[in-house]
Amino acid sequence: MFSLPPTPEDPVFALNRLFTSDPSPLKISCGIGAYRDNSGNPTVLSCVKKAKEIIGAESQNEYLPIAGDAEFLRLSRELCFGDGSDLSNVESIQSLSGTGGLYLSLKLLKKLGCKKVYASNPTWGNHKSLTLNAGLEYSTYTYLDLSNLKTPEIDFKNLIQDLEGMQKGEGVILQACGHNPTGVDPSEGEWEEIVEVCGRKGLYVILDNAYQGFASGSPSSDSLSIRKFLSSSLDFLVCCSYAKNFGLYGQRVGAVHVVSSESKNVVDAMKQIARATYSNPPKYGSDIVKTVLGSSELREDWISEVGEMSSRIKSMRLAIREKLEEKTGTSWKHVTDQIGMFSYTGLSKEQVMKCREESVYMLDSGRISVAGVNEGNLERICEVIGKAVE
Ligand code: PLP
Repeated sequence: MFSLPPTPEDPVFALNRLFTSDPSPLKISCGIGAYRDNSGNPTVLSCVKKAKEIIGAESQNEYLPIAGDAEFLRLSRELCFGDGSDLSNVESIQSLSGTGGLYLSLKLLKKLGCKKVYASNPTWGNHKSLTLNAGLEYSTYTYLDLSNLKTPEIDFKNLIQDLEGMQKGEGVILQACGHNPTGVDPSEGEWEEIVEVCGRKGLYVILDNAYQGFASGSPSSDSLSIRKFLSSSLDFLVCCSYAKNFGLYGQRVGAVHVVSSESKNVVDAMKQIARATYSNPPKYGSDIVKTVLGSSELREDWISEVGEMSSRIKSMRLAIREKLEEKTGTSWKHVTDQIGMFSYTGLSKEQVMKCREESVYMLDSGRISVAGVNEGNLERICEVIGKAVE
């Protein structure tokens, strides 16, 4: 007899379910972090379409090795760290998108004897679930000054103080760029300090690289934090996702890059975890990314398409700010100061609920996915938010 108490639903997917079951023709979703075009539709990048044509029906559906496709991993490393970086200490394993990479990384930390892992407050909700699921304790470090969301700045003094308070051998998850949910990233100088403290304290660092290209519009500029870690002598892990920047959400394609003088042993340990969990990774998504990154023409197309997605989001940020300033008579500058796919609007939970009554959906924290905003729904979103904050 299976007997269990009810399991709480994941908040992001629960919100999506509420949205889907809302019969209102006026409903708008700013919940889930997936890119939509200016008509509100999911996008298949044209470089991905071309890659699919090249792969065609000839694609062999054989098992990949446990570590994944070697050529895909080589191209993924190049993209992650930037051309010309010294990658002699780097070994990689393919993962089930960003989530699967975090899973392998956290299980590895557990194997290394790590007891506790910290992520930013706030962060992507799954960081906590993944950490606990790997048998680790979970805690948070300061990120934003949550008392003043209308001037979203990193509370850097307390962030550093929290890192200083961690014990040798504890783990820390840092988002490489386009921080979810706040849209606020550390500056170059702040990254340098973070790298220094992580090294001095002997922390296990996991860089969560889910939005490369979405923060600035340029994949190479967005790898700044990763390159800062690479130029230190630290061991660290980078979990890359190709869900957002290739629009391959459902293909589950990603990679973990291990930087260490013992990177081969580390990847071997991760291969053992992978083998005992899902055996080997799916092939089609990595074939697509490999085909795009391996062709100079398709790669150029991809870089310009990522730039276009990112600049559509930036133009929506400006439009939201202007509309809300017009409607409320107060400053919404924080919306354009933030970067990446998300905006932490600063709305209280009560204001979020008022929006939901009007069929405009965002997370309880007030986070909207700016990618869900377009010229067709902008007016209504801003009208509803404007009324909710009155
Ligand atoms: N990390 C962060 C910060 C995210 O926001 C997400 C997705 O929303 C992921 C990792 C993992 O995404 P995926 O498993 O779809 O690659």
